[in-house]
Amino acid sequence: MSTPWGKVQTAPVMPCSLQDVMSEQLAHDLHQKEEEESLKVKEARTFQEVLAAAGENTEASDDWLLAQMLQQEFDREHDQTLKIEEKKFNGNNKVSVSFENYRALHPAYKDEEEDEIDPDEIESGKSRWDSPNPKFNKYGVSGKGKNITTKHDAEICGRKNASKLMDLPPEFRSGDGEGIDMKLSNKVYNKLKMHSLAENKRSQRVHEKKEFSTAEHVIDPRTKLLLYKMVNNGTLESVGGSISSGKESVVYHAYGGSKEGVLLSSECAVKIYKTTLNEFKNRGAYVDGDHRFSRDDFKKNNPRKVIRIWGEKETANLNRMKKFGIPCPAVQVLNKHILVMSFIGKDQCPAPKLKDAKLSVEDLEDAYDQVIGIMDTMQNKCALVHSDLSEYNLLWYGGKVWVIDVSQAVELTHPKAMEFLFRDCKNVCKFFMKAGVHDVKEPEELFNHITGLNIKGEGAEFAAQVQRYDKERSAELLAHQISTKEYAFDYYFEKSHQDRLEEAELEDRNDPFEYFHEKSLQDKADEEEAGSSEDESDEDVEEELEEFGNADEEKIEKLKLG
Ligand code: ADP
Ligand code: MN
Repeated sequence: MSTPWGKVQTAPVMPCSLQDVMSEQLAHDLHQKEEEESLKVKEARTFQEVLAAAGENTEASDDWLLAQMLQQEFDREHDQTLKIEEKKFNGNNKVSVSFENYRALHPAYKDEEEDEIDPDEIESGKSRWDSPNPKFNKYGVSGKGKNITTKHDAEICGRKNASKLMDLPPEFRSGDGEGIDMKLSNKVYNKLKMHSLAENKRSQRVHEKKEFSTAEHVIDPRTKLLLYKMVNNGTLESVGGSISSGKESVVYHAYGGSKEGVLLSSECAVKIYKTTLNEFKNRGAYVDGDHRFSRDDFKKNNPRKVIRIWGEKETANLNRMKKFGIPCPAVQVLNKHILVMSFIGKDQCPAPKLKDAKLSVEDLEDAYDQVIGIMDTMQNKCALVHSDLSEYNLLWYGGKVWVIDVSQAVELTHPKAMEFLFRDCKNVCKFFMKAGVHDVKEPEELFNHITGLNIKGEGAEFAAQVQRYDKERSAELLAHQISTKEYAFDYYFEKSHQDRLEEAELEDRNDPFEYFHEKSLQDKADEEEAGSSEDESDEDVEEELEEFGNADEEKIEKLKLG
């Protein structure tokens, strides 16, 4: 049989039951349907995107988008005015007031916001597209007499807007305006600008989410880079798994390398203070009143700088405790917000907290005595109050109690030192009492024992007296201008006492831990002297980070973090 389309196949067709054909067809149909559905979904999604991107099509989405853009723009302008007000208000005063709380934009965007949107830049139209725009003086006026032009002149304005259009981010498709004497009305330009801003923010938000989610296992790219560098320059041999991830820090296990010829502890704990948390702001109380640390850094409200204070504080406190023989981690290196200390534990297995260490009654009694001894030394030798002493920050290792987590420990001169001490006493007594240790002192008794005071009463009454004592003591300190500069450690923080520094420096040379800390502070001082602000160095990191991110993504993976 022939057909106009050619020969019908003569070869026998594979026998196939009707059912098979049916099911095959069914399968095919189903498949087809499925594909169509998914295509529809895809189409719908891209359509949505188109809608959102164009911001023009349907009324509802248009209004919503515009409202959002306007709000964002409004917030931004509000914040900028606030910033100017703040500057005006503070002037050159050493003590400045922050208007932070009145800002409208989410603080998470603040840093980027400041980096990104410079109102002058928007105004002065730092454009690559050279249009013959007249120069305006600070009142927005150009020329003299009859030829006066203001920056609101429609023609100029339109051209300027069009030129500014070229400065919108490259991913923003504004069309090709180059070479055309293009003019945009303020309305159109503003709308575009706002849309671009909104889009920018949206993509940043996605980006930020990424950073925040790594912040859950808490390594942001900046920290990753710092760690990578430490492995690269041999300070650390390798960085291993995370030991702990708390509210304020993450701790990783690491194998130590060497720095400047000095070997680090073979096993190290790397404590990274979290850089994305606001809680740190609330901890101002622990720094306020500690004359070693400037409250200014808190005022500046730069989270990155604030975070570094905790590393510095913990380093200084650990060093001082070590000096007086308290079992605690030995500081190895402090690098920005990363503190490397000796590891309490063995073969990557950290020592248990007292809370988790299942101790025998004898060991517990021994531990209790040790803790009392530690508190006594801290008070009467180190002149420090731990301020967060509990079974969570005491480790049990090699038959000894080890004290950790002293970033918030304060000097005895702190206006609330005794209040904090009483709280520590309460925690310690409660734990050992519950654990079944006999003859545990009452917190009041322990407090008097350690301080050598004889405060009477108990409970709330006692606490009130402790607070009164704190107040009187602070007032006395103030009145007599007593400072605690006699502590050898403090010279690190008092640049004005250079001679003292030199004396003590010789003393501490033999101590590598002191040396590292001193070194890192010295580096910082040099940095400041050279006039390179930390922000600049942060920017450097940013740049490096970008290059690094592009080229060496795999190498970071090698760190096997998390
Ligand atoms: P946080 O402020 O987050 O509580 P910590 O200094 O208490 O920070 O550290 C958190 C946890 O990490 C500790 O409870 C402890 O289990 C572990 N850790 C911290 N430092 C060390 C160390 N030097 N050696 C071993 N484990 C440590
Ligand atoms: Mn802790």
